[in-house]
Amino acid sequence: MSSPAEARVDLGAIGENVALLRDRAAGAEVMAMVKAEGYGHGLVPAARAALAGGATWLGVAKLAEGLELHEAGLAGRGPGGVRTLVCLGVPGEPYDKGVQAGLDLAAGAPWLVKEIAEAARRAGVPARIHLKADTGMSRGGATGEDWPALVDAALAAEAEGLLRVVGLMSHFACADEPGHPSIGRQLSAFQEMVEHAEKAGIRPEVRHLSNSAATLTIPEARFDLVRPGIAVYGLTPVPREGTFGLRPAMTLVAGAALLKRVPEGSGVSYGHTYVTGRGTNLALVPAGYGDGIPRHGSNVLEVLAAGRRRRIAGRVCMDQFVIDLGDDTLAAGDEIVLFGTGERGEPTAQEWADALGTISYEIVTRIGSRVPRVYTEDPGHRGAKPGNEEPGSVETGSVDG
Ligand SMILES: *Cc1c(COP(=O)(O)O)cnc(C)c1O
Repeated sequence: MSSPAEARVDLGAIGENVALLRDRAAGAEVMAMVKAEGYGHGLVPAARAALAGGATWLGVAKLAEGLELHEAGLAGRGPGGVRTLVCLGVPGEPYDKGVQAGLDLAAGAPWLVKEIAEAARRAGVPARIHLKADTGMSRGGATGEDWPALVDAALAAEAEGLLRVVGLMSHFACADEPGHPSIGRQLSAFQEMVEHAEKAGIRPEVRHLSNSAATLTIPEARFDLVRPGIAVYGLTPVPREGTFGLRPAMTLVAGAALLKRVPEGSGVSYGHTYVTGRGTNLALVPAGYGDGIPRHGSNVLEVLAAGRRRRIAGRVCMDQFVIDLGDDTLAAGDEIVLFGTGERGEPTAQEWADALGTISYEIVTRIGSRVPRVYTEDPGHRGAKPGNEEPGSVETGSVDG
């Protein structure tokens, strides 16, 4: 290992997970969500692997992410560029660049439709937009009350030739709780809002509502396109329903930095929140909250070291933490697995999330830019070909955790 800690990303797993989602989407197209650096797995490599697995669209949150995919030759206008949706718009962004790049832009308010239309006028190219409906999450999008005004603003700009409404979309609040009463309500609200828009003259190419959880558990919400994110990376969107056969793509490892013997009663790390109960071997693990290891994991999270699970002993520091090996030993440089697929006995990101009262999304997405991503295709696994990523290639500095 050439760095203190690294995140190994199995691109074959991403390809297989997308293939599984495509099966489950039963004819709907798959937009792989690669926002936030591909949930921490690396934007461009994750996008390539997802496309190799059968995704036909890419989705990001922010314009800069879409532009980065375009510059890499994956998104929007140009040979090999696939349809890519930017889901979150804010005032004052360089939408003309987005329009020129051929990116699809979501808009949930008339002011944004107008801003995109003006950008299209400057760019001299019509924009492609997806109207976003708030069907009950009360986050982005236009509420039922505001929807007619949004549709009218879009139709006016369409009539001027400045844009085309290619999509109608919404987002579930509780798809990860199968049976939640809001699910049916959001589904019918979406159907009504689609119907209103189509009656008013909108001719969308795609209508889409489903995140990972909905793709896997709500068949009637698939429409023309599904937008899975977390499941692409092999993590379950509905933990209480199991793994759905998904395979975690990220394994976080660190090389032991130091081993030492300390006597009974030794206080460990800042604040001495852990005190050794007897003479014991401590190992130093060179990954800390500066790398995205949650400090709340102090004295809580487990890792796999010297063949067994060990709990983090004392506080997680910025760059490192300590584990207590008892009488077991390891050598400096020996590999410690923080989380991974679980196949070798290591915790999964889901287990870390459960122990901390959060979701697996946060565990993988927060792994920082100081941790290089090392791309592999698990040799024991038939994976999809991930474009021109070399197995074992290291991409540093590309992930802004
Ligand atoms: C992040 C996101 C998704 C994917 O959600 P998952 O729960 O990760 O599948 C889908 N749609 C939108 C608009 C999103 O922002």
